[in-house]
Amino acid sequence: MALFAPKCDRCGNRTRNKEDDKPVCEECVQEMKLLVEASGEEKRPCPVDGQAMAKEVAHMLVIDRCPQCHGVWFDGGELERMKEGLEEATVMAMARGMTSPLI
Ligand SMILES: [Zn+2]
Ligand SMILES: [Zn+2]
Repeated sequence: MALFAPKCDRCGNRTRNKEDDKPVCEECVQEMKLLVEASGEEKRPCPVDGQAMAKEVAHMLVIDRCPQCHGVWFDGGELERMKEGLEEATVMAMARGMTSPLI
């Protein structure tokens, strides 16, 4: 019997990749890198209510999420990448996922 690969510590996908001795899949490693980079950037005010928005990473994209109205905003460049790289269905699923906190 083949052994299953361990589950990613972050998203639960099976992976053989390791980071700091914990199983973390390549995608999560990438996302965490993006998040570290994004956290060094200045927080932007929500265009709707002016609240400072939190940086999050979803599907390899850095997004700004407003804690007040829960609006999700992308940088212009992020949106272009998203159009190129993702199916519309994925974007819709992602938008729905935005309504609950990402852990
Ligand atoms: Zn993962
Ligand atoms: Zn807002």
